[in-house]
Amino acid sequence: MKIYNTLTRKKEEYVSVDGKPAVRIYSCGPTVYNFAHIGNMRTYVFMDLLRRSFKYAGYKVKGVMNITDVGHLLSDGDDGEDKMQKAAKEQQKSPYEIAEFYTGVFFEDLKKLNIERPELTPKATEHIQIMLDFVKELVAKGYAYETSDGIYFDITKAADYGKLSGAKLEDQQAGARVEVNGEKRHPADFAVWKKAPKEHIMQWESPWGMGYPGWHIECSAMSKKYLGEYFDIHTGGVDHIPIHHENEIAQSEALSGKIPAKYWMHGEFMQVNGGKMSKSLGNTYTISQLEQMGYSAMVFRYFCLNAHYRKKLNFTFEGMDGAKVSYERLCKLIVAHKNGTNAISSEEIENYKKQFKDCIEDDLNIPAALGVLWTMLKCAPSKDVYKTAIEFDKVFALSLDKAEDNIPKVQAPQEVIDLAEKMQAARLVKDYATADALRAQIDGMGFMVLNTKDGYQLKSKN
Ligand code: AMP
Ligand code: ZN
Repeated sequence: MKIYNTLTRKKEEYVSVDGKPAVRIYSCGPTVYNFAHIGNMRTYVFMDLLRRSFKYAGYKVKGVMNITDVGHLLSDGDDGEDKMQKAAKEQQKSPYEIAEFYTGVFFEDLKKLNIERPELTPKATEHIQIMLDFVKELVAKGYAYETSDGIYFDITKAADYGKLSGAKLEDQQAGARVEVNGEKRHPADFAVWKKAPKEHIMQWESPWGMGYPGWHIECSAMSKKYLGEYFDIHTGGVDHIPIHHENEIAQSEALSGKIPAKYWMHGEFMQVNGGKMSKSLGNTYTISQLEQMGYSAMVFRYFCLNAHYRKKLNFTFEGMDGAKVSYERLCKLIVAHKNGTNAISSEEIENYKKQFKDCIEDDLNIPAALGVLWTMLKCAPSKDVYKTAIEFDKVFALSLDKAEDNIPKVQAPQEVIDLAEKMQAARLVKDYATADALRAQIDGMGFMVLNTKDGYQLKSKN
């Protein structure tokens, strides 16, 4: 299995930290103060493809994804209002209610998109103590210091800070976006713990009075607790490279002497009409909104699968229309193979399987793997092709085993219905030769008969 490592800027052969055929993955999870948008969901589809590809290749997977229910500060820097607190104020609910609601919606979206829920999904608010312990140790060892508003990590003490993004320490100015805090030793020093003003709703006791954790400390503390000081893969979106992951590395390395993960993988962004996706531009959509517009979650997943995870993906409705047409055609072909009666040699099938595996083991080349599937489906309808496609779907997770449900219903002409009725009658008396002949006749007229629990359904082939 080859994967691209942001840390070394190379595609590398995967070898787990402990040498076993296993992979321990930490994925930065959602901040649950709002609905996740389709850009966020692209990053989780990437996480899912990674998990599924490793499983397909025979590895045991343990995944951890945090749920940020503390809220992190508004900007990537340390100042600004807390996201959870802001949402709570606007919606007049407690931050806990806000978090619970949006966490539920998030898990629903994962389910709709066939994204496997990682084995562990710890909430930040349930891990404040381990974060505090982490901060205390940083202070004790001289890596963090106290100011009037919090505890800051001293990045000049970090081992070559900036190694993930390649940024130089001198360039790390917390200038433009963040008000410079005069008490900080270096402008890019970041808060690991903030002292809470009275009006701050979420706050916990600490040796420095009431306060709350910084965002980066959350991932460092939880990954350490559940995966250890040195695990296999850390994932996130590309926006995490320059600050969040750089800071995670600095803190974790300060305590353990090790960069916490061996491989760092990042999903590229989804754009809208070639530009940034953002709430203020009004161009973010949720999975539910897409569904209301007639695009199923599977169509969206199919749309995502057509771009490599390290390439930007431009979201447009034309693109979604194209994905919808292709996905329906894919489902029709799958059904045709399910009912197929042609033979295909086992060498041919093995050859497709090999090509498929080569694609996914080449840094998750899912678009190419889809190409293998499409080529295979061009064969004369055969049950062996169907079985192989269902096996490939362990990675794609496009619900191909329920392909029938994804083909839109159409009104068939009476002539076709009459033939289908005759076919049903023949099946009932187990006259399969007649039934098959009728099926072929219906097929010739551009329709297919799908057997269902209570009879049959007619669907258009095209
Ligand atoms: P957040 O809830 O803001 O922390 O974001 C959740 C995840 O979505 C993070 O891994 C981000 O890197 C990722 N993300 C945010 N915006 C986009 C986007 N436009 N395209 C892809 N991933 C994104
Ligand atoms: Zn994180």
